[in-house]
Amino acid sequence: MTIPTEATSIESSGAGSWTEVPDVAEVLSRIDALGPRWRERARKLDEAVEYPYENFAEAKAAGLHALTLPTKYGGAGFWLPGRYSPWYQALERLAWWETNTAQLLQVHNHAAGIIAWHSTPEQRERFLPEIADGAICASLGSEAHLYENGAEVLEAELIKVNGGYRLTARKGFASVAVAAKYLMVWCAVEGDAPYAGRMLFAVVDVDSDGVELLDDWQMLGMRSTISCGVKFNDVFVPDSHVVGKPGGWVTEDPRTFSCAYASNHLGSAQAAFDFLAGYISNRPDLCDSEVVRVKLGQMDARLFATRACLQATAKRLDQGDDPDECEADAVRTMHLAKDAVLTIPYQGFDLVGARACHERYPLGQMMRDARTFTLHFSDDLYVERLAQLALGNGFSAKGGRGGSTPFEVGSGASGQATAGA
Ligand SMILES: Cc1cc2nc3c(=O)[nH]c(=O)nc-3n(C[C@H](O)[C@H](O)[C@H](O)COP(=O)(O)OP(=O)(O)OC[C@H]3O[C@@H](n4cnc5c(N)ncnc54)[C@H](O)[C@@H]3O)c2cc1C
Repeated sequence: MTIPTEATSIESSGAGSWTEVPDVAEVLSRIDALGPRWRERARKLDEAVEYPYENFAEAKAAGLHALTLPTKYGGAGFWLPGRYSPWYQALERLAWWETNTAQLLQVHNHAAGIIAWHSTPEQRERFLPEIADGAICASLGSEAHLYENGAEVLEAELIKVNGGYRLTARKGFASVAVAAKYLMVWCAVEGDAPYAGRMLFAVVDVDSDGVELLDDWQMLGMRSTISCGVKFNDVFVPDSHVVGKPGGWVTEDPRTFSCAYASNHLGSAQAAFDFLAGYISNRPDLCDSEVVRVKLGQMDARLFATRACLQATAKRLDQGDDPDECEADAVRTMHLAKDAVLTIPYQGFDLVGARACHERYPLGQMMRDARTFTLHFSDDLYVERLAQLALGNGFSAKGGRGGSTPFEVGSGASGQATAGA
């Protein structure tokens, strides 16, 4: 894999926008118009370990890069109070068509939504029109380095200098980075407080001196996301590009990423199920098997349960229910979604047999993508928190170990649960 440079030409292509909060049906129909091409390209992109530039250009033209920007700036206003449900519906549909592109649009839109929320009015005027115009944002939280083993420790720290800060750091798993104009880096200001309490966002222009994208993404699945490593070698970050107050992600923003992951996993699981149902319906010998039908029926029910939980959780978020309670429900939902996306393709092979392993079918890639993506944040670490809640030890959406905030281990802040996307 080589880090391509087409990003600039894609950036200058037309970007669609929204003049008011759209009806979700309109967003879904725009996704459906693009989806068949994305699905068709998926295997080649996977084989070549290539970023879906064309998909992104099309997504931008359809305004899908601006789903989480406020409507004042040409966005659809999703992932904002009262408007969580349409965001998750859009993500599920995107992933139904193609999970890699869905994940990348999720990362970018979350980064854009974070910049929109935490910026000062001046920063909003600076960054949001650019993003609406097509500047793509990555979200760099993880410090798990692909070619090194050992515990992931969050160390990225801004050092104050005249007019801004200096940043020397290494981030890993940076989805979207190869196509980004802005690298939104989760980092801390200097101090003795716990990492999450000092954390804010450095919005680094990818062309800044000292930024180096690493050619290290050779993975089992999610290959076309090119979630590469990025080095920051004494990069100057002007004051104007440091967004948020220290700790603001934890204290001033109730949002998390859990339902978004659940949505992607659910969409991917549904796509695998639909493939299986299609394959089986063309095989009278399989259709006639009660054993096969029972298995398929169980999968159908699992998808229904996951979707019902996602919708219920999204509704609670839209109603403005207690954020900790909502997040506990989101974690429950994500557990079910991970289970669905891991088991349906895997067990599906038992129904459709060895010939479905041929590369002309999508099930193998679906299984690899699911296995890789569900490791983004470990399910075990999430559900353990639910057990703590059941044992009377409480649950905090942002203050505990989870996929949305770094947690403390000993004196430093340790990863797995790094924020990111
Ligand atoms: C496709 C993909 C895209 C990604 N994109 C982004 C992105 O855009 N931005 C970003 O910031 N991050 C991204 N990530 C990275 C993600 O946020 C994690 O940082 C990364 O996956 C952690 O790698 P790891 O599992 O090797 O970490 P480790 O923390 O080393 O985990 C290794 C294993 O140890 C377990 N483990 C860890 N800590 C404990 C503990 N205390 N107790 C018991 N078990 C533990 C984990 O569950 C896991 O099974 C992406 C990940 C994937 C897979």
